[in-house]
Amino acid sequence: MGDPQFATGHDQLPGPEGRRGPELPDASKALAVDVLVHGAQSRAQLAKKSGLSAPTLTRLVRPLLDAGVLVESESVRGPGRGRSSALLDVVADDYRYVGVKLTSESIYAVLTNLRAEVLASQTLSEPSLDVPDVVSAVAGVISRLQEEAGRPVQGVGVTVGGRVDGGETVADSPFLHWHEVPFRTMLAEQVDVPLFLANDVVGLTMAQQWFGYGRTYADFALLTVGAGVGYGLVINHAIVPTSVSPVSHLPIDPHGPLCFAGHRGCMTAFATSGAMADAVSLARRRRTTYDEVLDLAEAGDPAASRVVTEAAHAVGRAAAAITSLTGVERIILSGEGVRLVEIASESLHAGRVEYACGRASDLEPVIWPMDFLEWARGAAVVAIQASFPE
Ligand SMILES: [Zn+2]
Repeated sequence: MGDPQFATGHDQLPGPEGRRGPELPDASKALAVDVLVHGAQSRAQLAKKSGLSAPTLTRLVRPLLDAGVLVESESVRGPGRGRSSALLDVVADDYRYVGVKLTSESIYAVLTNLRAEVLASQTLSEPSLDVPDVVSAVAGVISRLQEEAGRPVQGVGVTVGGRVDGGETVADSPFLHWHEVPFRTMLAEQVDVPLFLANDVVGLTMAQQWFGYGRTYADFALLTVGAGVGYGLVINHAIVPTSVSPVSHLPIDPHGPLCFAGHRGCMTAFATSGAMADAVSLARRRRTTYDEVLDLAEAGDPAASRVVTEAAHAVGRAAAAITSLTGVERIILSGEGVRLVEIASESLHAGRVEYACGRASDLEPVIWPMDFLEWARGAAVVAIQASFPE
């Protein structure tokens, strides 16, 4: 993802009194992010972790305390221990962020604090997929959550499935049927808060990176299944940008089912909720939803079991392929459809180890079940990562 940009003309960043001061040094910002991500820490802990001397650390922390970004919380005093044992923390509830995820059917929105804890949420049906209608609807949701916030909102993140260019334009969204839509600018005309636009899986990856399982790993990949197949990659703590979704149509089996793009046996054909529901509907000769497919598979229905088993196997193969191509061993599996790999965990494992060599196959993937609002929370984290600390 490129650098998300602030809304031009809206750079009077609202925030708690006095927080907006001189530009903070990058090294100070990095310490503030460490405290946000890993929780309250003493100066001594931070110095040890960052390899900085105590005087340097004190110098870097001072502007953060002056600006109110960090506060000294409960002091752990013991014999011979002075101020250095006080814990430095952020006041997460001093901040409010809004995250909005757009889909072809609904707009999902959450209000969070600085640690991306959800304080309120709203879901509404898309009025239509016409861009001006969606802009108005999103502006309305943001305005309602701003009212609910009870304090100024520091930033709004909006995410969509598809390609987003430069944090500005929805270049191509197969779900919304949008091409080259300058969505951020259009929305900024109606929203008086810094706005950030990103791909939805980038948002989910950022949420994992700062507030989820990814916190403890320098390198990890996120693979999601649901309406689409998503892929996010973090190497050495940095998100690796991808302009297309590289795993969506990864070849799995040349004898597999067809996807809409005409590929035989790609990930979309095997593991997306629509394709799986269609396959089971055809076999049972009655319309079957994705949730019904999973329930039927658990109950032992032969057609549903076969489809779910093959999907889990495909997810396993994709996870192994990601490890083979990137060298990243830690895979987080998620997405609103991820229950399929819990139902067919043996097939997931079989798919993973089929071509594995070495210890990669020993490291089980982390399975992170999520509901749909998690996508909106990921959008809020796009705004948090782009604007903290100011
Ligand atoms: Zn395909």
